[in-house]
Amino acid sequence: MRRVVLKLSGEALASSASDETIDASVVDFLATELAYSVEAGGLELAVVVGGGNIWRGATGAMAGMNRANSDLMGMLGTVINALALQDAIENHGRPCRVMSAIAMNQVAEPYIRRRAVRHLEKGRVVIFAAGMGNPYFTTDTPAAQRAAEIEADIVLKGTHGGVDGVYSADPRKDPTATKYSELSFDEVLAKDLRVMDLTAITFCKDNNLPLRVFDLMAPGNLRRALAGEAVGTLVK
Ligand code: UDP
Repeated sequence: MRRVVLKLSGEALASSASDETIDASVVDFLATELAYSVEAGGLELAVVVGGGNIWRGATGAMAGMNRANSDLMGMLGTVINALALQDAIENHGRPCRVMSAIAMNQVAEPYIRRRAVRHLEKGRVVIFAAGMGNPYFTTDTPAAQRAAEIEADIVLKGTHGGVDGVYSADPRKDPTATKYSELSFDEVLAKDLRVMDLTAITFCKDNNLPLRVFDLMAPGNLRRALAGEAVGTLVK
């Protein structure tokens, strides 16, 4: 069994086709792919979902809010996204549990490592909500930290901006940009490549946790990434 943590940004649940903060058809697409991949076997799947479609702590802080309060709002946003995704995954017949880093017993289970692992062993998808429960982080870092904690084999970071992996420059602006199929963490740090938050990159490096960055929305890509195929860029 491969154990995988998939990081989905909140914006991946929205789309330009909908005015809503969560586009049900996009969530359904993602849930279809996730349920299929677990059904196909060989995979234990945990998801860390972001909240950027609803609120980012930095936005409030820039407008003069207390940073910790603003980050709490961001963390609550991730719970809303987690519930939407859970609902869609279960509609596809795959049991799914939301585990929150902030206690809210009527809404989600509390995060308990042993319990999360047990859910995974039973074939349930686990969604980690509310990040790590601490302000001053984005959900990239809890994706890496939870992956280490549950002894996942890899962190998969799905992007939704139409860029499949890590490039030498932004391929949407620079036609000479080239794609890396594999990179080391040191290269990512030295070249200041914006793969994930710096804290998350450093964490992955220190804990020897490989990271694959790939385009979530390209047809078939998510399935292939979950099946362990070499899509996008591998950082290790
Ligand atoms: N957040 C936090 N601690 C965490 C995870 C998230 O304070 O451990 C807050 C932070 O304000 C962040 C927001 O939740 O901006 C939403 O998460 P993120 O920005 O990672 O969402 P994404 O960009 O992935 O949609």
